[in-house]
Amino acid sequence: MSRIRLLPDTVASQVAAGEVVERPASVVKELIENSIDAGARKIEIMIRRGGISLVRVSDDGCGMDRDDALLSLERHATSKIRSASDLQAIGTLGFRGEALPSIASVSRFRLTTREPKAIAGTEIIVNGGKIDIVRDGGEAPGTQAEARSLFYNLPARRKFLRSENTESRNIEHQIHLQAIGHPQIAFTLLRDDRLMFQLPAATTLNERIRDLYGVELLERLIQLNGATSRKIRISGFIGQAGLSRQTRAQQLVFVNGRAIESGLITVAIREGYHTALMKGRYPVTFLFLDLDPAAVDVNVHPAKREVRFRDPTGVREAIVRCVQQTLERGRAEWQQKFRAPHIEPEPVGTEAKIPEAPHRELSHFAPGFGDGSHRRAEFAPAPPVIPSSLAPQERGDPGHAVQTIPPAKAAPQQFQIIGVLNKLYVLMENADGLVLVDQHAAHERILFEELRRRMEEQGVPAQKLLLPHTFDLPPRDADWIERNMSILQKMGIGIESFGPSTFKIDSLPAFLNVSDPAQFMRKVIDDLKSASNTSSPMRLGEEMIAKTVCRHAVKANDPLRYPEVEKLIRDLLDCDLPYCCPHGRPTMIQISLAELEKKFGRKI
Ligand code: ADP
Ligand code: MG
Repeated sequence: MSRIRLLPDTVASQVAAGEVVERPASVVKELIENSIDAGARKIEIMIRRGGISLVRVSDDGCGMDRDDALLSLERHATSKIRSASDLQAIGTLGFRGEALPSIASVSRFRLTTREPKAIAGTEIIVNGGKIDIVRDGGEAPGTQAEARSLFYNLPARRKFLRSENTESRNIEHQIHLQAIGHPQIAFTLLRDDRLMFQLPAATTLNERIRDLYGVELLERLIQLNGATSRKIRISGFIGQAGLSRQTRAQQLVFVNGRAIESGLITVAIREGYHTALMKGRYPVTFLFLDLDPAAVDVNVHPAKREVRFRDPTGVREAIVRCVQQTLERGRAEWQQKFRAPHIEPEPVGTEAKIPEAPHRELSHFAPGFGDGSHRRAEFAPAPPVIPSSLAPQERGDPGHAVQTIPPAKAAPQQFQIIGVLNKLYVLMENADGLVLVDQHAAHERILFEELRRRMEEQGVPAQKLLLPHTFDLPPRDADWIERNMSILQKMGIGIESFGPSTFKIDSLPAFLNVSDPAQFMRKVIDDLKSASNTSSPMRLGEEMIAKTVCRHAVKANDPLRYPEVEKLIRDLLDCDLPYCCPHGRPTMIQISLAELEKKFGRKI
């Protein structure tokens, strides 16, 4: 007896719906994509109870005539592709002809649509995949698709839905993606009859980001441009070094206008950020990749979330390079803000207006530089910054410690130091307001870049140990050392084999101050073995510097003298990526005058 039979269409649609319509947010996504493909300038979304009770998407797009409206509810009915060859270069968001029938098969569905010039429109009501009513409709030109009681006929699916709040958040995220991907379209979201946002059509991506996320975020983004080859164009924005999030929610990536998730791109972005991103945190990106549609396959995933690239290596490398260059380019702009505000000198005889003059606080700098690092030898004293609001006679007061510092040769003054808080945070003033610098993080960044530069050029200077040390390692670690011997030597670690798993170490990087070299080496190996990226020896070297530098940078509580602080800041500003330490933690925090004014209730 034959056992195989063809599934009735409604059941087949429900099966397909399992892949396309996972949750209310997928309904929203598919319907918005249809509106965008229909050339809409304005899209309104209305949801109730997390979209479970209602999702309605209305647009002012091209609409459909009655025949098309009926056909659009059939499975595999689409106006977007005609032949298999069209699959090779897809220029629309939809192409599978599955969304409408899938949604209609798992909800109470209503479609009203009208072409701009038509006298009347069409209304179709479908319940659980069965067309119940077809009649004339009188809506405005465009299309309205409405899904009520999602999964009412699939209780198993319905049980998998999360709380209304979670589903609403998923929907909002989905709309954000579409809104960022298409700034020229106006979007409105009504959630349980409350207006959540109303985004006017924007002419640029910046405007859309500002309207959606606020100007504060926009100010912390850097524009991507570059890595523009004939094949790939990368544009959009990424967060400055030091800006990161706890989740991936703001790591937005678009390929030919389509929001996608891509492991390959995620890795490439991370690689581009490298030390500019804190471990375990996620970058903020609005990254747009445009390439020949024939170079991407979007027909990979039923929900079209993933894509495949014909040249994955090329894409990866272009992104890494572009992110790196952009972060470094962002530096100049950022440094500009650290130029000291221009203060007009006041006439002689003016009384001091600031009772606690900054240079008085400077006398709190302790006399000793904590770790006796090499930096002291390089130190060239610079004049203290004395605000002109101080009375001149006070400036000449010999009782102040700082007055003993000889003035430096005309080094351009870029910043104004106020003092040090809690032996850790350097307080500075810049054109935007107050800046707090973490002196430990700052020193880490400076050492990191200095050592990396030396490693790349001639290798880190090594210092001979008085007595060479030998030590044993377990075979796996021994193997690791053998493989990375050359990079260790470039790092200033003089190490060589001294038996099957015994090593001799006779020199260490000059900047280190290590009492037990064997223990130090074990620690280095432990740290570095767990380092995720060991793909290139240079990267390994960087990891190594980042790990070791941290321990030897100025400790949080090392008191620094004023000139040392000043040099620290100056060196920091000269770094390639001054705004974060080699582990991606910020080195500085800016508190703008506007923020202060708000806090003091001067401005609302
Ligand atoms: P796909 O988008 O993959 O083609 P859908 O099932 O989502 O498949 O839609 C089927 C067809 O219905 C589309 O190809 C399009 O021609 C038409 N359609 C769907 N939504 C709209 C809309 N909002 N405006 C105009 N036409 C639409
Ligand atoms: Mg579609």
